[in-house]
Amino acid sequence: MGRTGYNHEMPQTSQRLHHFTESVIRHMTRVANSCGAINLSQGFPDFDPPAILKDALEKTAQTGPHQYAITWGAPRFREALARKQSRFMGLPLDPEKNFVVTCGSTEAMMVAMMTACDPGDKVIIFSPFYENYVADTILSGAEPIYVPLHPPDFSFDEQELRRAFAQKPKALVLCNPANPSGKVFTRDELLFIAKLAEEHDTFVITDEVYEHIIYAPAEHVYFAALPGMFDRTISCSSLSKTYSITGWRLGYVIAPPAIINQARKVHDFLTVGAAAPLQEAAVAALELPDSYYQELQTIYTDKRTRFLNHLDAAGLKYTKPNGAYYVMIDISDFNAKDDVAFCEWLAKDIGVAAVPGSSFFREPVKHLIRLHFAKKTETLDAAGERLLKLRHK
Ligand code: GLN
Repeated sequence: MGRTGYNHEMPQTSQRLHHFTESVIRHMTRVANSCGAINLSQGFPDFDPPAILKDALEKTAQTGPHQYAITWGAPRFREALARKQSRFMGLPLDPEKNFVVTCGSTEAMMVAMMTACDPGDKVIIFSPFYENYVADTILSGAEPIYVPLHPPDFSFDEQELRRAFAQKPKALVLCNPANPSGKVFTRDELLFIAKLAEEHDTFVITDEVYEHIIYAPAEHVYFAALPGMFDRTISCSSLSKTYSITGWRLGYVIAPPAIINQARKVHDFLTVGAAAPLQEAAVAALELPDSYYQELQTIYTDKRTRFLNHLDAAGLKYTKPNGAYYVMIDISDFNAKDDVAFCEWLAKDIGVAAVPGSSFFREPVKHLIRLHFAKKTETLDAAGERLLKLRHK
């Protein structure tokens, strides 16, 4: 057996897999579980979804369906989704032509990437990025080109973006509102990206899972709804964050019919389909009135205020997020070897699990960590209490 655990007689696994590691986010959840830390690493709520969804799920257990739905999505689910997304995106979306329902936006992104790219193509990814984008790109045989979003405000340099486009990318990944930075791209920034995408005939693959988690005065602008952009945009999102159902694994791709027809094939051969009973039960969520989304914003705005107050009390420096539910915290004042060592210590000695910032950056950034606040008030307060111990470090 060699160092890699392989017997030399054994066939070697794919070279592609040597270019990225396991998810650090999901690793930190396991670290949190093993040492009893409050898990503010992997972003998911510790509170229940709306009661209407739990009731619908209970009912669906009795009525079904329990067999496969149509591979690209159960009709009732697509109809409800098309009504909801048309309303928010301001686009006349057709449930028969513009959708593929997937297993979470994780699958949606992989489907989008494999639909857009051939091996050898290049894909622009803003750094810091949500880890999956690099893995998706490499698994598609494509190659990432990174464009920095400069901390602390995570703005991009127009010249740097122009230089990336000059390398003739096939696609650009746009996470908006952005994980992990909390950046919400302004309309002007999006129009600048749109101009370059048009000039260079590039697809824009969006990840808009935080579309409804936005803090005023920031506003979410759907890239697909910008003038002339629908035909080159593959929009990905999910129900996970909006309805607090990350375990249901319901996501979707929205695009013009010519793209959807190809994306359906990728999806069909990857997973066949998202869970049929969960699609049926989730129709109740998609039919919720606008007041649900306003209330969601109020709930998350209160959580952000509460959590940032805890960070202030602990004397921590951070960038205030305008969207999503993550905060990047600057740990330069601590005498840590690096962010990874800091996060291990934070989980074991302080009892709060975070994600090392370096797992989101292409550049050698080792002074940031990510915490999230999609948690019950009690959990945020308990974490705040523990973080106070950092004050005198
Ligand atoms: N988006 C979540 C995060 O960044 C994690 C999602 C996942 O692990 N699938 O923490």
